[in-house]
Amino acid sequence: MGKLKNKVAIITGAASGIGKAQALLFAKEEAKVVVVDLNLDGIQDTVSEIKAKGGQAIGVQANLTNDDDISNLVEKVISEYGEISILLNTAGLFDQYKSLLNTDESLWNKMLDVNITSLYKITSKVLPHMLEKKFGVIVNIASGAGLIAGGGGIGYTSTKHAVIGFTKQLNFDYGTQGIRANAIAPGLIETPMVKAVIDDPNSGVMDAVSKLPAGRYGQPGEVADLSLFLASDDSRYIYGAVVPIDGGLLST
Ligand code: NAD
Repeated sequence: MGKLKNKVAIITGAASGIGKAQALLFAKEEAKVVVVDLNLDGIQDTVSEIKAKGGQAIGVQANLTNDDDISNLVEKVISEYGEISILLNTAGLFDQYKSLLNTDESLWNKMLDVNITSLYKITSKVLPHMLEKKFGVIVNIASGAGLIAGGGGIGYTSTKHAVIGFTKQLNFDYGTQGIRANAIAPGLIETPMVKAVIDDPNSGVMDAVSKLPAGRYGQPGEVADLSLFLASDDSRYIYGAVVPIDGGLLST
């Protein structure tokens, strides 16, 4: 039997990269997957791939910074599946490395909106359904930039630190009511988000990667494996953790 049989999992950012890998793996483990993203073509690709392999999924296009989109999403999931057991907050935005004086207020606000306010918005609408069943697992994708400076620039680093605080506080307030929230801090994972950096021979990233203990980029499927562990009962005694998956980046 699949590890997530009978679980309903909303996965944001599931049109691409880490979110797509999570959606494919969770469906393989028999979750009913809700593929959420801005990118409609990508949503359709993920849903078709899941269905072609015999899994269950629906796709919902939503901008996670928009309250109406989120209300529609949650209503649709409840009417389709009746409950929400797992929320993977994976969607995020990295807009090149920018220091404070290269970050105007509109970029700053955009980073806040996509990387942290969206978590507030969607989690606020999903949590009441989890509390009703006294069961819910939340996995938030932070970043190594949520723990140290240097990888992400001011907007990304600040918002990813906030994702970690958000995760811990959720646990503190709702852990005794059946809710378990953990965060993942990926290092350099080969996805469309970081393609421009990887492809730029002057970015210095290849040099950094070659010095990692793992000596390579991480793959989206590896972050999906960790997400499955944190979303399943295998991690039932893990609350409020921040788990790095970075080929040794934070240890060097
Ligand atoms: P990606 O660009 O491949 O996927 C991100 C997805 O989020 C895209 O499909 C995009 O359309 C979606 N998205 C962005 N804004 C949205 C919005 N407002 N509403 C709905 N969907 C939206 O990137 P990825 O590398 O898979 O990133 C997934 C998560 O992992 C992000 O939170 C990112 O910050 C984090 N992360 C990635 C790396 C890495 O090296 N790739 C490292 C650390 C953390």
